[in-house]
Amino acid sequence: MMSAVTDASKGLVLVVEDERPIADLVRLYLSREGFGVQVEHDGAAGLAAARRLRPVACILDIALPGMDGTEICRRMRTDGDWTPVIFLTARDDEVDRILGLELGGDDYVTKPFSPRELVTRVKALLRRAAGPAPDRVRVLGPLALDPERRAVSVDGAPLMLTATEFDLLAHLLGRPGRVFTREELLAAVWGYASHAGTRTVDVHVAQVRAKLGDSASLIRTVRGVGYCVDA
Ligand code: CA
Repeated sequence: MMSAVTDASKGLVLVVEDERPIADLVRLYLSREGFGVQVEHDGAAGLAAARRLRPVACILDIALPGMDGTEICRRMRTDGDWTPVIFLTARDDEVDRILGLELGGDDYVTKPFSPRELVTRVKALLRRAAGPAPDRVRVLGPLALDPERRAVSVDGAPLMLTATEFDLLAHLLGRPGRVFTREELLAAVWGYASHAGTRTVDVHVAQVRAKLGDSASLIRTVRGVGYCVDA
């Protein structure tokens, strides 16, 4: 099938996947939901399309001819492009790396995946990106989070967080002392609840902690339950 931009109301999703049956299936499901879909089959064309078409979300396969999906994402982030990225991966052990600090992916699905589940993830990410920000500045010890400006600082020094990291921290700070389960955080921050996605939460918590540095312990792990920030 030729790749082509289709006209659709919900915005354009870029799909970079070299396995054509998978790409066609993803295109079909996204189109049915009212998304425009641009499919590219190799890394270089995928990156060029991301830069040219400014999609509302990108679905990137990891193993691609030319340039792999993680490199596409890394280059987008280097350009200052924080378009939501969902990775398709065949390997569960890649998850830490692809959602990690350097790459800044927002979510992933492991092959084989249900196209319906993937569409749910895309819609959830977009809902969140468009959602209303919480209103007031939240301060906890050395940490200050300003939802209006989407800015976080520790002892007055600004912290560079991705959109997902910011939303996760904002949610935890919204109820200091309250323990959130991974499923609750997934539902609140990513907009879907699925046991399969809870590792996404763990990886992002680890990233936020890494960025918090000396203040990492502000986010407490409650064994067997989830996470909280102490009041
Ligand atoms: Ca592939």
